[in-house]
This record gives sequence, C-alpha cells and structure tokens, in this order.
Amino acid sequence: MLRLVYEGFLNILAPHTCLVCESFLANASYSDNNTLANYICQRCFDRLPPAPRSEELLAGIARHFSGDSLAIHSITARFQRETASIASTPDEDNDSTSITPLLYALKYHGVQRLGRALGRELGELLQMLGQTSYTAIVPVPIHSARERERGYNQSTRIAEGIADVLRLPVEIAWVRRHTYTLSQTNFSTEERKLNVHSAFAVGRSPEGIKGASVLLVDDILTTGSTLNACATTLLELGARRIDAATMAKA
Ligand SMILES: [Zn+2]
Repeated sequence: MLRLVYEGFLNILAPHTCLVCESFLANASYSDNNTLANYICQRCFDRLPPAPRSEELLAGIARHFSGDSLAIHSITARFQRETASIASTPDEDNDSTSITPLLYALKYHGVQRLGRALGRELGELLQMLGQTSYTAIVPVPIHSARERERGYNQSTRIAEGIADVLRLPVEIAWVRRHTYTLSQTNFSTEERKLNVHSAFAVGRSPEGIKGASVLLVDDILTTGSTLNACATTLLELGARRIDAATMAKA
C-alpha cells in the first residue's frame, strides 16, 4: 500500500512517458527499472516490426564474406529497425512503430537500464528458439575511450538482460577493441597486418575462451562486418563456435 502511494507520488514528480509516442505510461514500475513497460507503451510495442528470420539474416551477412571468412555460425535479431516503406492500401493497418528512439536513448542519452530491459526481450526470443546452451555471452566491445566518455558499453547492458533470462555468465574481458588512433609504429609488420585485419584483440582476461561456445551480442546489425570481425578474433583465440544476437536489424 505504502509502495503504491510512493509510486503514485513519483509518477507525479517524474512521470514515465513512451519514448516512441510520448504518451503517459500508466503501467510503469518504479521498483523494476529493467522492464520495457517503463520505456514504451503497449500499443507502440505491439506495432514494432520483428526482424527477419535467422536464415535470412545469415544469408545477408554471408553475401559480404566469402567461404571460410564467415566466422558467425548463426544470427538472431529481435526487431527490424527501419520500418520498410511497404506500399499500403487505404484499408491496410500500416501504422508500425520504430525501435529507433529506444536504441538512441540507450546509446546517446545514458539510459543504461533500458539496455537491460531490451536484453531481456532478446533473451526471451533466444529461449523460445532454444538457443540457450552457451559457455558465455560476449558483448561486442567499444573503444575504451568511447566507453569512458559514455560511461558504459550499451551492448554489455543488453548482454546482461539476456543473461537474466538465460542464466549465463557475461564475459567482457575476453576481447577488446583496438584504438585506431594509437600509433602503429611499435607493431611488427605481422602485428600490423593483424591490426588491420581485425579491429579486435585479446582482452585482459581471456581465461575460459578455449573451446567456448559464445553468444556474441551487439545492439544493431548492419552489414555484419563488426560482428564477423569480433567473431573471427574469438575463434582465433580458441573459441569453438560463435552465434550472434542483436537487438535490431538495420
Ligand atoms: Zn507509445
């Protein structure tokens, strides 16, 4: 009872509104900040277009990578980011919404908890598809300078949400991202080639990576080149198999 009064009071002070349509969120919860109901209304959520099926997504990535340069075994995405401009007939209900404002808020407006809420949504899809047996979840790392500036890696927050559902460890120290602005003059020719080949390198704590089955997580899938580069590094470091999962397909 007291909690309800308190939450009602908070609602007046700082009401939650839908990040898509800006309507007041009556079902928002102040006790659980990791629920999507705090960020998007049911109506907008129901109209988010789902991503294409895994086979279609993988075929799209495979077009960019020939034969054995494809390091990803499978890929799953939860939403389609851009609502395709489908020719609508007058009687067709074509009022789909977009996940973009949520991904934007997570990445650029410091709304960290939204990442966990989104991650749970992705985790539930993976669970439904039976994609649950992994050694660990690995978020695609961002440059350390960018992470310091932003205060967090948005993919790590998503990975934590998936981990809530699948009950798996999140490994953030298996791989790291190169800082390209660093001078390459101290590298040998061979190391330089590796540096160009991949934006990723061994992290500060890669124990456990040998033989690991990895779920690699990123916020958005575009061409898949970032995911594939990170997956390539993980395989080179001894991982056995890499499946990928992203919040949205661009
Ligand atoms: Zn809404």
